[in-house]
Amino acid sequence: MTDQVVTRFAPSPTGYLHIGGARTALFNWLYARGRDGKFLLRIEDTDRARSTPEATEAILQGLSWLGLDHDGDVVSQFEGAARHAEVARQLLAEGKAYKCFSTQEEIQAFREQARAEGKSTLFRSPWREANASTHPDAPFAIRIKAPNEGTTVIRDEVQGDVTIRNDQLDDMILLRSDGTPVYMLAVVVDDHDMGVTHVIRGDDHLNNAARQMMIYQAMGWTVPVWAHIPLIHGPDGKKLSKRHGALGAEEYQKMGYPAAGMRNYLARLGWSHGDDEFFSDAQAQDWFDLDGIGKSPARFDTKKLENLCGQHIAVSDDAALLHELGDFLAATGSHPLSDEKSALMQRAMYCLKERAKTFPELLDKAEFVLASRPIEPDEKAAKNLDTVSRCILNELTPQLQNASWTRDGLEAVTGAFADAKEIKFGKMAGPLRAALAGRAATPSVFDMMLVLGRDETVARIEEASQQKDGT
Ligand code: GLU
Repeated sequence: MTDQVVTRFAPSPTGYLHIGGARTALFNWLYARGRDGKFLLRIEDTDRARSTPEATEAILQGLSWLGLDHDGDVVSQFEGAARHAEVARQLLAEGKAYKCFSTQEEIQAFREQARAEGKSTLFRSPWREANASTHPDAPFAIRIKAPNEGTTVIRDEVQGDVTIRNDQLDDMILLRSDGTPVYMLAVVVDDHDMGVTHVIRGDDHLNNAARQMMIYQAMGWTVPVWAHIPLIHGPDGKKLSKRHGALGAEEYQKMGYPAAGMRNYLARLGWSHGDDEFFSDAQAQDWFDLDGIGKSPARFDTKKLENLCGQHIAVSDDAALLHELGDFLAATGSHPLSDEKSALMQRAMYCLKERAKTFPELLDKAEFVLASRPIEPDEKAAKNLDTVSRCILNELTPQLQNASWTRDGLEAVTGAFADAKEIKFGKMAGPLRAALAGRAATPSVFDMMLVLGRDETVARIEEASQQKDGT
């Protein structure tokens, strides 16, 4: 036995990786990565009718986009069915489970009668204590012998001790009469066999924990540390709806949020470390602990997500950002950047990444890089290219031909030109933006000039100065 932390993410492949699932995965990943532990991935595909390979693929893709890498192979729960059944049979052999021959009709009749008499409708099988000699030759389910006195205490790292009266637990079926194991058994056997030490999952599974505990106890296995995290609510405090963030992870990628910003935001969704809002992966791994998980549901807040994404874009490495931008373009089915534009983007990145919260915003600022001559000014920009402005641009061009192509050099030349003409630099900025980017709002004029270089800058300004009125 080692003390290594082992966590897992165990999604059911019945749909995309939604935001709650992504957060559960992230918490498990952070917990393991911060402790030199292992983060495992198990696809809970026992429900054959609802599980699809497309959903598995979407989950894997979502995790990959978020950078939540797992250790070892992806485990398919369904493929472990024989092992799950074996555990049920072991409990049967040890007398901790029994064969139950009750039919659906009998169980139904039991419940109806209990209801009529105002008693608990939890099924109490007549076969629990039956002598094997009385067993019919008929199909049977294997049921666990639940403790029916006392209490079961779930020690939960988030919720505290949760006590359940054992008379509220029924003799849960482990193996159905068709020989298939139930989900609850599969989860426990898999967690045990995979060596999972910490189970961090949504608090919608808290009720299951009491039933799963019965299996741990019957098998004499160590119960993992449990942390049931409150669900995520919408900004209105109600259950998360599609409109308020209950989308698949890939939708966030398509909206252009950077993965690092998403990770930071999801980590803050229900977990805190003092007043820290903006942090790196390394800090999150270092700081993440179960103590910091809140007891009440977190609220999804798009503004906060955008704000954090903006900060992450601003501090990202230029080449990494360009790479992720390429992934964004691919995810949205857009044309990839040509080598030439990529090189220009890389040069421009330092001035694009300030104040862009998403990749579409970054691309918008990059219009001066992405556009090619002739630059078509949009309606607002065109207003900045009136006759007087075009004259100014015309006279500025020879000055730029001779300027030293540095920020200082460009500032000196344009400053001297403005002084000589007795105009404010602001008067020149609009026309220059229109000439260089075809837009009224752009990165700084000097940044655009430096990125584009002398030849391209002069060519764009010349073209703009020669435009006819009304074009
Ligand atoms: N498969 C379950 C789900 O997707 C998770 C089970 C668990 O974490 O124990 O909700």
